[in-house]
Amino acid sequence: MSLKYVCPLCGTPLGYKGLCWKCKSAQEREAVLAWTPEQIKEKQDWLIQNIQRLADGGYAGAGWPG
Ligand SMILES: [Zn+2]
Repeated sequence: MSLKYVCPLCGTPLGYKGLCWKCKSAQEREAVLAWTPEQIKEKQDWLIQNIQRLADGGYAGAGWPG
C-alpha cells in the first residue's frame, strides 16, 4: 500500500495533497504567534460575542440591540 502524496514539509506519506496534520497544526500555531495585538483583540471580541449569543439561548437577532 502506498499513499499518493507526501507532506511537502516533512515527507510524511499522505492520502491527500497538502500538509500533514502535524505540520498543519505547527503552521497554524505560527500564524497565531504572528498575530498583532489588534488581531488578537479582534478574535477575542468575536469569540466573546459568539459565546454570549450561545449563552442567550441561540436566538440570533431576538432582543439584539439596534
Ligand atoms: Zn508534515
